[in-house]
Amino acid sequence: MNDTIAAISTTLGVGAISIIRVSGSNSIEIVNKIFKGKDLTKVDTHTIHYGYIVNKEEVIDEVLVSVMKAPKTFTMEDVVEVNCHGGIATTNKVLELILNQGARLATGGEFTKRAFLNGRIDLVEAESVMNLISSKSESNRKVAIQGISGYVSKIIRNLRQEILELLASIEVNIDYPEYEDAEVMTNNKIKPKISKIKLKLEKIMKESENRKILSNGIKTIIVGRPNVGKSSILNKLLDEERAIVTDVEGTTRDTVEGSITLNGVSLNIIDTAGIREAKDIVEKIGVEKSLSLIEEADLIILVLNNNEKLTTEDYKILESCKNKKTIVVINKNDLERKINLNEIKYKNIIYTNTIDLNGIETLKDKIMELFNLNQLEQKDYTCLNNIRQISLAKEAYSILGEVEKGIQEKVPIDMVEIDIKRVWEKLGEIIGETYTEELIDQLFSQFCLGK
Ligand code: GDP
Repeated sequence: MNDTIAAISTTLGVGAISIIRVSGSNSIEIVNKIFKGKDLTKVDTHTIHYGYIVNKEEVIDEVLVSVMKAPKTFTMEDVVEVNCHGGIATTNKVLELILNQGARLATGGEFTKRAFLNGRIDLVEAESVMNLISSKSESNRKVAIQGISGYVSKIIRNLRQEILELLASIEVNIDYPEYEDAEVMTNNKIKPKISKIKLKLEKIMKESENRKILSNGIKTIIVGRPNVGKSSILNKLLDEERAIVTDVEGTTRDTVEGSITLNGVSLNIIDTAGIREAKDIVEKIGVEKSLSLIEEADLIILVLNNNEKLTTEDYKILESCKNKKTIVVINKNDLERKINLNEIKYKNIIYTNTIDLNGIETLKDKIMELFNLNQLEQKDYTCLNNIRQISLAKEAYSILGEVEKGIQEKVPIDMVEIDIKRVWEKLGEIIGETYTEELIDQLFSQFCLGK
């Protein structure tokens, strides 16, 4: 990481100004070699200088050069920014000269990666930089800037601190049971502390889920065996004949999509191919796609036929959706009830028939209820802002649940301690206290060049 990197930080095209950013221990020296004006190696930090970029005797452009010396810079390294005239030819030429003097072309996000690796920003802040750049709405911008300002990281850090203190008192108890000044940590004393941490985590997760729903909508999929009425339900929800409704099993082979708006939130619905033992290859692809869609969905509408007993495939579908937010729809409610309802262990069950729209409004109401769409509004912009962060928070939350269960069941304290430590680690992953090389490479490669 000791080499000096350079890249164009502005969009390459016709524009008033372009900025070429250089970072690393040789950055001042490198730019100084092609700069005609003050000797940049002798100027104060955080100053800006007027002059020319030259190639030997030839003047390439009239520029302003900012010199920022380590450590108070974005990357915590010496940084030089050349503000030249915009336009492809000039910008590329200036960059080329800088590279000729020994800088290396930066990879996507490498400046931000250095900022992270040098400890200037944490992972949430780094990801927020990316989110800010790609923000297209005012609310996304607000969330991103909260992240960059460190508010989100502070919440996570505080939670980790609380956990650390708890761990320390448990350790004292385990290692020095005779130490009288230490508070004796019993399961009963840990319990309220864990509940408090869980509640705080829950608050930020809820805010984050709301954010996700407000900006991305609810990813909904309709699953069920062929012919139970999935396409008909989708049609009724969409109020149009988008999916082809037919009697031949397996007609809806590929997915059909549509979207409706419920209380300002978009419900993006996908009707899947019937999940069943696939006989031909086209259908098999459709079935596999359905199963992977279940994993990614925010909501599953699982359709069953009121007029038939549950089949092996129905049981399989019921099983694959059991950990997801699911509404079980018993369709064809106009026909005789043959379905064995007592076998369905789901909380949210509603009855519909698509002939006279019976139950479709109930289905919409149920969705509104499940996602709190009547009260959904962004109150607080301090929230986790991507899937990586949210899923780590979810993991931490679920381990906290295990800790509570362990306490309830009077599991020995050193066992409980192991789980508490895992929560501390998971939260650490959110802000990048622990990370893998692959994660960092993958994450920063999504950044644009020059950032
Ligand atoms: P899919 O394969 O699950 O998408 O099912 P379809 O929506 O294509 O419906 C299969 C058949 O069931 C069609 O002939 C529909 O007209 C019929 N159907 C759908 N919903 C109902 C319903 O509520 N009651 C009755 N009686 N028939 C329905």
